Amino acid sequence: MATQASAYDAIVVGGGHNGLVAAAYLARSGARTVVLEARPHTGGAATTEAPWPDAPDFRVTRLSYVMSLLPPTIINDLQLARHGYKIFPMGPYYQAFPEGGSIKLYADDAKRNHEEVSRWSVRDADAMPRWDAWLAGLADVLGPLLLTVPPNLGSRKPRDLAETLRLAWRQRGLNVRTIADVTRLMTMSIADLLDDWFESPQVKGALAVNGVIGTWAGPYEPGTAYVMAHHSIGDVGDGHLGNWGFQEGGMGAVADAIASAARENGAEIRTGARVERLLLNQGGRATGVILADGQQLTAKVVVTSLHPRTAFLDHVGRQNLPDDFVTDIERWKTRSGVVKINLALAELPDFTADPAPKGTNLQEHHTGSVEMAPTMPYIEQAFTEARNGLPATRPFSDGVIPTAFDKTLCPDGYHIMSLFTQWVPADWAEKPHTEELQAYADRMIDCYNEVAPNFRDSILHADIVGPYEMEHDYGLIGGNIFHGELSLEQLFHMRPAPGYADYRTPVPGLYYASSATHAGGGVCGIPGMQAAKAALADRRAARSHRGRRGRPRA
Ligand SMILES: Cc1cc2nc3c(=O)[nH]c(=O)nc-3n(C[C@H](O)[C@H](O)[C@H](O)COP(=O)(O)OP(=O)(O)OC[C@H]3O[C@@H](n4cnc5c(N)ncnc54)[C@H](O)[C@@H]3O)c2cc1C
Repeated sequence: MATQASAYDAIVVGGGHNGLVAAAYLARSGARTVVLEARPHTGGAATTEAPWPDAPDFRVTRLSYVMSLLPPTIINDLQLARHGYKIFPMGPYYQAFPEGGSIKLYADDAKRNHEEVSRWSVRDADAMPRWDAWLAGLADVLGPLLLTVPPNLGSRKPRDLAETLRLAWRQRGLNVRTIADVTRLMTMSIADLLDDWFESPQVKGALAVNGVIGTWAGPYEPGTAYVMAHHSIGDVGDGHLGNWGFQEGGMGAVADAIASAARENGAEIRTGARVERLLLNQGGRATGVILADGQQLTAKVVVTSLHPRTAFLDHVGRQNLPDDFVTDIERWKTRSGVVKINLALAELPDFTADPAPKGTNLQEHHTGSVEMAPTMPYIEQAFTEARNGLPATRPFSDGVIPTAFDKTLCPDGYHIMSLFTQWVPADWAEKPHTEELQAYADRMIDCYNEVAPNFRDSILHADIVGPYEMEHDYGLIGGNIFHGELSLEQLFHMRPAPGYADYRTPVPGLYYASSATHAGGGVCGIPGMQAAKAALADRRAARSHRGRRGRPRA
C-alpha cells in the first residue's frame, strides 16, 4: 500500500560512489536531493566492512581495493581531501615465481625497472622505457575521452551531428601512427600486444594482469589490450601515470568522503531504503519512486545508479521502454568469475625469493601488488578452466596488503591482505557454491604458500566473496565488477546502449549514473558527475525554453 508522497527536486537511486557523486553535484547546484540506498550503509562496491563478528577490529575493503581512476576534477570540485580522501601511493608490482626468483616493477622508477627486468631479459629491460612512453602517448589520447560524453553516432539530429563533429575536431592532432596504435589497443589481445614488445614470460605475465582484471576473457582474447589501458591511464593525483593507491580506512572511506561532501551540499542520504520501482506519469516521464516499504517519493529528476537490468528492466519495466533498448539491455554482457578473498594475517608473507629475517618484517615488496600471475599461460589456464565450467585449479590473484601503510584497518602488528582472484565459472552467480568457493580459496592460498611458506599458517580469518554474493548482496548482477563487461561492443557510445550513452535514458526525467555508462567501471565517479550534469543542463534548457515562451512578443 503506497503511503503519501514526499517531494524533492532530485532523487538518486543507489548510494554507491557514483550515486553519491551525482547527489553531491545536484545538491551543490541547489537541488533538494535525496539518495536512496538499499543496504544499511552507502558505498556499494566501495565498502569497508568488518566481516568477522569475533574479530570486529579487523576491517577489510570487501570488494574494490585500490584507487586510481577518480579524476582530479571530481576530487577538487567536491573538495574530497577535506572530507577524508587520503591516498597512500602503492609500492611496486611484485611477483615471486614458483620456480624461484622474483620481479618488481615500479610505476615511477625507470632505473630500478631496468635492473629488475634485466634479471629476466636485457632486451625487455631496454624495451621497457619505450613501452612506458608508448602507453603515455596513448593515455594522452584516451585520457581526455574518459571525460567526454560519447556522441550519438549515426544520429542525423543536428545536435548529435554537431557533437560528433566536435569530437572529430578535438582529435585533429592525431596522425596515422597514433590512430593505428589506438586501433591496435582497441582490437588486440593483451597477449599478442605484449608478444610484440617483450620476450620474457615473467615480464609478460607481470604486464598481462591489468588486461584481465574483472574481465570474462583470458589474455589471448581480442579486446583485453584495451582493458589493460583502462587500468593504466589513471593516477592517484601524484602525477604518475597508471599508479594506484590505498585509501586510508579502505574503499568505504572514499564513499564516506563523497557522502560527507554531498551532505555538506545539502543532500539527504537514506539507507535501508530499497527502491522497488519508478513512478512514471501518463506521458511516460519519470516522476519519482516507490520504496519496498510502500513509501512514494516524487521529484522532477530521477538519477539511477544501479545495474542496467535492475534500473531499466525491473524498475522502469519493459512495457515502458523502446523494444530495441530492451533487447540491448537483455543482451548486456555482465560476467566476471571474480572471487574476492579477504584475509586477516598474524604476520606478513615471507617470500623465499626475498626472505626477511622474520615474516613480520615489512619490506618494499609488501607495499604494492603482491601478485600470483606468474606467466600468461598460467592466467590463460585459469580462464580456460572457468569457461569450461570448472573453477580454476590455480587461480590468478592481484593481491594487496593495505596495512603496509594504513594503520586504521586492524590492530598493531597484524595485517589485512586482499586477494582479487579469477576465475570461477560465470554461472556461479546463480547459486552460492559455498563449499566449492572454500576449496577454490584454499587452492589460491596454496599458490601463495608455495612462494611464501609461512602464508597459510599466518591466516587468522578468511572472508570469501563469490559472484552469487556480489549479485545478491551488492546488486552486481552476474557478479560483474563493473555493472557490465568492458568488452569492445560495450564501450563508449555503446555503454549501456547505442543512442543512450549521454547519461540520458529513453525515459524523460530519468538519468543514468552507473558504472555501466562510459568511463565506468571502477571507482571513478565520472558516470555520477556526468549524469548530474546532464540533468542540470536539461533543467536549465527547460527553464530558458519556458522563459522564452512566457516572454511577451515585441
Ligand atoms: C570485487 C571487486 C573489486 C573491485 N576492485 C576495484 C578496484 O580496486 N578499483 C576500482 O577502481 N574499481 C574496482 N571495482 C569496480 C568498482 O568497485 C565499481 O565499478 C564501482 O564501485 C561501482 O560503483 P557504482 O556506484 O556505479 O555502483 P555500486 O557500487 O554497485 O552502487 C550501486 C548501489 O545501489 C544499491 N542498490 C542496489 N539495488 C538497489 C535498490 N533497489 N534500491 C536502492 N539501492 C539499491 C547497492 O546496494 C549499491 O550501494 C571492483 C569491484 C568489485 C566487485
